Amino acid sequence: MTSAAPQDAFLRAYHALTLLIAANPELMAFAGWPYAPLVEKPAKPIPAAQILKDWAEGHSDITLSLHQAARDIADHAGWEQTYTEEEVGAEFLSRYGYIELVGPSGHFQSDGVRAYLAYWGENLYYPWHLHEAEELYYIVSGHALFEAEGLPPQVLGPGDIRIHASNQPHAMTTTDSPILALVLWRGAGLEGLPRMGRA
Ligand code: ZN
Repeated sequence: MTSAAPQDAFLRAYHALTLLIAANPELMAFAGWPYAPLVEKPAKPIPAAQILKDWAEGHSDITLSLHQAARDIADHAGWEQTYTEEEVGAEFLSRYGYIELVGPSGHFQSDGVRAYLAYWGENLYYPWHLHEAEELYYIVSGHALFEAEGLPPQVLGPGDIRIHASNQPHAMTTTDSPILALVLWRGAGLEGLPRMGRA
């Protein structure tokens, strides 16, 4: 980090995250309180960073502080995408990305939990994929259609939660709104990555 300002922004994001978790029994039960120290991680800007920075809508009163915090760290975060253009297409990659806020390679270091802030623009299809780690989606802003094998499809909005078991295939589609989600991972495969497919 090059100045104190980004560090303050990350600390505010961590504070917003822990307050949200502490206030929500489902989040608390899934991840506990993710104490983790801030570590050096270089900024890695991608197009989604600027789009998120400019997006001030779609949150609820409860999710406002984390949405705002995500916008404030957008310029300074080490954005990731995981997928290739071959897998998801150039349009998807131009309006999608995630920040590992807490985790083994996050801005806040933890080997016990991963907490991502993930953004998708409107009218995107996130194809079927799976991963070993158990996962909890908590919607910060916007909405999208969530699908998972063994669960009915469901449109989720701010404050809604969806849990995916280990290796349970799932997919997501946005329509007229972007979506910003807090995504928590725990358990075996914590350091792994998703892979495309349904099996
Ligand atoms: Zn997932």
